Amino acid sequence: MSICGDLNCSKCCHDREVVLTHDDVDRLLTMGHYEQTFARPSRHGHNLKELIFENGTCIFLKDGKCSVYQNRPTACRIFPYVTEDGKDAIDSGCPHGDIFRKDEIFISTGRDGFKHIIKDVERTISTAIE
Ligand code: SF4
Ligand code: SF4
Repeated sequence: MSICGDLNCSKCCHDREVVLTHDDVDRLLTMGHYEQTFARPSRHGHNLKELIFENGTCIFLKDGKCSVYQNRPTACRIFPYVTEDGKDAIDSGCPHGDIFRKDEIFISTGRDGFKHIIKDVERTISTAIE
């Protein structure tokens, strides 16, 4: 069971912007989801995509649980990991940040996932400009 599952929390599946990497989209496609049902152009442009939320709730949240958990986007896997001034940090939007802050494996995984997202965003933006 995950930390979030143990806590029965799904707060970050509401009112959030989730950037999708190319890998995220591919994994969700392999589950049989059509891209237009879960992804839309990012509000930041540059050919980026983001997860669709309806009325503030992610379309994959069913009965309080993530229905694509094994294939959820990288941004969901690493939340609440963020960086502040290049240093590891925990997003204040998570009410259980103290638990994650002490979890070295989570911090290390978050750091790697964050780099993956940044790399994908940079690649997508440079492709859009060409
Ligand atoms: S994909 Fe899953 S974990 Fe991510 S916001 Fe949606 S329901 Fe939550
Ligand atoms: S990361 Fe934090 S806000 Fe999101 S589901 Fe887990 S405990 Fe809740």
